[in-house]
Amino acid sequence: MKKSSVLLVLVLLAGQGCASHSDRRAGDSKRERFDAVVIGAGMGGLSAATHLAAAGKRVLVVEQGAKVGGCTSSFTRGPFRFDSAVHAISGGGKDATGFVKLLNKAGLSNKVRLIRIPEIGRAVYPDFDIHLPNGVPATVEALSDRFPREKEGISTYYKKMAQLVDDLTQLGAAYRRGPVARTGLLLLVPLRQPTLFRLRNSTHAQVLAENFQDPRLKALASQLWVYLGPPPSRLWAPISLVAHYSYIEFGAWQVEGSSEALANAYAGRIEELGGTILLGTKAQSIDIRKGAVQGVQTDAGYFSAKAVVSNADPFQTFGKLVGPQHTPAEVQKKLDTWKESNSLVELYLGLDVPASDLGLPDYETFYTSTTDLDAAYDAMVNGTYTDIAATITAYSNLGDPWYAPPGKAVVTVVAYSSIDNWSTDPKVYAEQRQRVIGVLLDACERLAPKIREHIEVVDLATPRTIERYTMQYRGVPYGWNMIVGQEERLPNTTDIDGLYLAGSWTVPSHGVTGAAVSGYHAAELILQND
Ligand SMILES: Cc1cc2nc3c(=O)[nH]c(=O)nc-3n(C[C@H](O)[C@H](O)[C@H](O)COP(=O)(O)OP(=O)(O)OC[C@H]3O[C@@H](n4cnc5c(N)ncnc54)[C@H](O)[C@@H]3O)c2cc1C
Repeated sequence: MKKSSVLLVLVLLAGQGCASHSDRRAGDSKRERFDAVVIGAGMGGLSAATHLAAAGKRVLVVEQGAKVGGCTSSFTRGPFRFDSAVHAISGGGKDATGFVKLLNKAGLSNKVRLIRIPEIGRAVYPDFDIHLPNGVPATVEALSDRFPREKEGISTYYKKMAQLVDDLTQLGAAYRRGPVARTGLLLLVPLRQPTLFRLRNSTHAQVLAENFQDPRLKALASQLWVYLGPPPSRLWAPISLVAHYSYIEFGAWQVEGSSEALANAYAGRIEELGGTILLGTKAQSIDIRKGAVQGVQTDAGYFSAKAVVSNADPFQTFGKLVGPQHTPAEVQKKLDTWKESNSLVELYLGLDVPASDLGLPDYETFYTSTTDLDAAYDAMVNGTYTDIAATITAYSNLGDPWYAPPGKAVVTVVAYSSIDNWSTDPKVYAEQRQRVIGVLLDACERLAPKIREHIEVVDLATPRTIERYTMQYRGVPYGWNMIVGQEERLPNTTDIDGLYLAGSWTVPSHGVTGAAVSGYHAAELILQND
């Protein structure tokens, strides 16, 4: 199996501002018939709608927010422009993988420019500091130079990753079909996908322990846990290893003009293909009769359709839009027992000098205050921040002038969080925000000691911000927690005739690419079942 075709399925096993797309808003209340209604214009919904419209379907997208994109959004503060969330996406590159193929299929290859991030990033720990390059061979070499006694383990570890990617690629298609097809193919896994079978109940930390001794090497070889949710001791090994492989081998990318440019390109294409996008329009319920979808009730009226794609999280989709009486038992069980991933905080800084002048010459810097990654994770989600694993992104260093005027810079700092730590009392919340801004600036100061003197603009997104703009359950943009026992995300199909799911809670995964792939698969399944 060609590795370059791997991640169509498993790529990531990993708002504010002006409304530009639709002049039709809530209030155009009417009873209209569409082939498909898509609830939510996040990357999952936009991708589904585009591929349906490209196949000639009459599509309506309803988005509760003032603009399209969900997490793939941007905003302006003074002379600075910020990507609300996204700093590195997987699946770019001409040889590779899912995302570029999807853009081609959507007719967007000339409308979106992906900029390659020159390396995975600089990893900084209290007593060591290393640049992590792009490409598996270069990574093996860099780590072997630094940890010569562990050369053999390093080579074995990355070979194991490649084998796993092969195994998962072969199995990938099964994960997005219904439970019957899945069961049949899963029975053959011990024979056909031996690496996956062996690691099926393993954590990433167990795989690290099989290959490495030095805790510093273990931390570096699992550095991208900060994109995935839980720390290596809890992360399900196959999903984490494949996500690492994808980023390392095929590279990480950013969209020229921010991830909102990507969302806007999708939205423009939907309208070009005759689809309709209603902004400021919230879906209130999905009408189900005799086990089949009939349409969607929104605050702009009722729209009938025989297919509905929900890009909303499953707690809203089933708990509110569908209702418990129609929720399939298998889904209900997950809603009752499975754990969602963590949420995040993001600090946005507009600086009056280039980031490199302050000691941040790279695009992505991973700052971790300890090699005890469990301690770092727990301190972040408990809100104490006594330890931290922060991703510092100097957007302006990628050469895209969109973010900051010449001589200035945009830098963000992302760390994990939980909505439980954020008060609903505005006064307490404001105090909490100031405290966390301080914590994240302290982390930045370890690398850029004078950064506080150069701040022109500062803002912070919390789990409550994410919840408000995306309606994601508990402000969680990563979907289900990727832990052992929660391996299979929700499929794109449901037991309700005509109801499909797309976005970060469904297969293959969260992330921009994961959500776009899921939307594409949801569209494909609708077209197949037509
Ligand atoms: C701080 C942060 C940093 C991140 N960094 C990265 C990164 O660097 N790389 C990466 O790949 N991923 C990153 N992610 C994750 C990634 O952005 C998300 O996993 C992905 O974009 C989610 O897409 P989605 O389609 O599932 O949902 P969303 O983007 O959440 O979109 C859902 C949409 O549905 C709408 N909606 C919900 N309910 C309704 C309703 N009832 N009616 C109408 N509309 C509704 C919402 O308004 C929203 O627009 C980050 C996320 C955050 C928050």
